Amino acid sequence: MTDYSLDLNEDQLQMQKWVHDFAENVIRPVAPEYDEKEETPWEVIQEAANIGLYSWEALSSWFSDPTGLTFALVSEELAWGCAGIGLSILGTTLGVSGIVGSGTPEQIAEWVPECFGTPEDIHLAAFAVSEPDAGSDVSNLRTRAGYDEATDEWVLNGTKTWITNGGIDKVPNVHVVVASVEPELKGRGQASFVVPPGTKGLSMGQKFKKMGIRASHTAEVVLDEVRVPGRCLLGGKEKLDARMARAREGKSSRVQAAMSTFEASRPLVGAQALGIARAAYEYSLDYAKERKAFGRSIIENQGIAFKLADMKMELDAARLLVHRACWMGANGKEFTAGEGSMSKLKAGEVAVWATEQAIQILGGYGYVREYPVEKWHRDSKIYTIFEGTSEIQRLVIARAISGIRIP
Ligand SMILES: Cc1cc2nc3c(=O)[nH]c(=O)nc-3n(C[C@H](O)[C@H](O)[C@H](O)COP(=O)(O)OP(=O)(O)OC[C@H]3O[C@@H](n4cnc5c(N)ncnc54)[C@H](O)[C@@H]3O)c2cc1C
Repeated sequence: MTDYSLDLNEDQLQMQKWVHDFAENVIRPVAPEYDEKEETPWEVIQEAANIGLYSWEALSSWFSDPTGLTFALVSEELAWGCAGIGLSILGTTLGVSGIVGSGTPEQIAEWVPECFGTPEDIHLAAFAVSEPDAGSDVSNLRTRAGYDEATDEWVLNGTKTWITNGGIDKVPNVHVVVASVEPELKGRGQASFVVPPGTKGLSMGQKFKKMGIRASHTAEVVLDEVRVPGRCLLGGKEKLDARMARAREGKSSRVQAAMSTFEASRPLVGAQALGIARAAYEYSLDYAKERKAFGRSIIENQGIAFKLADMKMELDAARLLVHRACWMGANGKEFTAGEGSMSKLKAGEVAVWATEQAIQILGGYGYVREYPVEKWHRDSKIYTIFEGTSEIQRLVIARAISGIRIP
């Protein structure tokens, strides 16, 4: 007898099935329509809220799985349905992660439920870090936060870009904004702020038209003299002042802690990429068995069968990396080799590669919009770009395994 097992437990299997059924019956039927319309799928978010799938209670139950796998399973199933719609449901968790990552227990208790609202009053959240001149290089943010002692308020000014759910004002929307308090201290002079729904001065700039994940809203967020109460500084002023004082004196920072937070969230993004890759693999396997050419099924050609064998192998390898990193994150293991980055890098690249193989297997049918495969390829590409590009993931891994600060 051994304790080691790669089997999912009953709770995980039940959750996986519940979300899979939602993806199959609610998401998939409307996925092509939202891909064309490029609009937020409010009806799907509403349905997800009605059944409790879009709620802070669901999120906290996924996080309370001691193996760390449940949230990855949910993410994979939603993206299997449609990555754009899946991200419209999961986008709020980006804002939540900003609050949980930096907030005090009181701030987490106040703001996390506010990010979801209720089925009768749906809310959203967004996490705004990236700027036109600072995507991978987030130490150079230009958005400024100044403290107004007289009113105990923070004043935010700047422009954020590529923000998922950014600037939507159809429903109450909690923005978590990362801004620079002391620019010369780079990353250590930055802080995260909650901008409550309806705050004056925050508005949506350009909404982007995208190659893929088109149901997910991506836009600029403009901050013009945005005033938020002092209590909206996540972690509190005392902690920020102490951190900046240490940085000014050249004392070491808790980079390892920040790194662990990113390493723990990356596999969940990788899990979404797995969902797309699996959708493409399943569809092209069925197609290859049915499609006839030269009097036989195309899968009877090794050229096609081996593609499918490789797709299955790469998909399973990527999933093992994703699940390992989720388990490490949930069990407080140190990511000594960039295991979180590995999982997102591998899953993102497998999704791009596998969806391209699927197009090839379908031939001309793979290239037209009547079939879902070309959409999956378009959807997959973002997974080598956002939440850290593939190059940045390789940088994290290389630094971790070498101990050298490779530039
Ligand atoms: C659809 C979408 C949704 C997004 N959602 C959000 C969101 O909700 N919140 C948010 O804050 N951001 C979001 N982003 C931003 C995303 O995280 C950034 O686009 C990403 O981090 C890359 O930044 P960049 O686009 O400025 O590229 P750059 O940083 O300019 O990089 C350009 C290229 O140079 C490479 N490169 C850069 N530095 C190095 C280096 N040191 N070594 C090797 N190569 C390097 C990169 O890998 C890339 O290939 C989103 C982006 C998109 C497209």
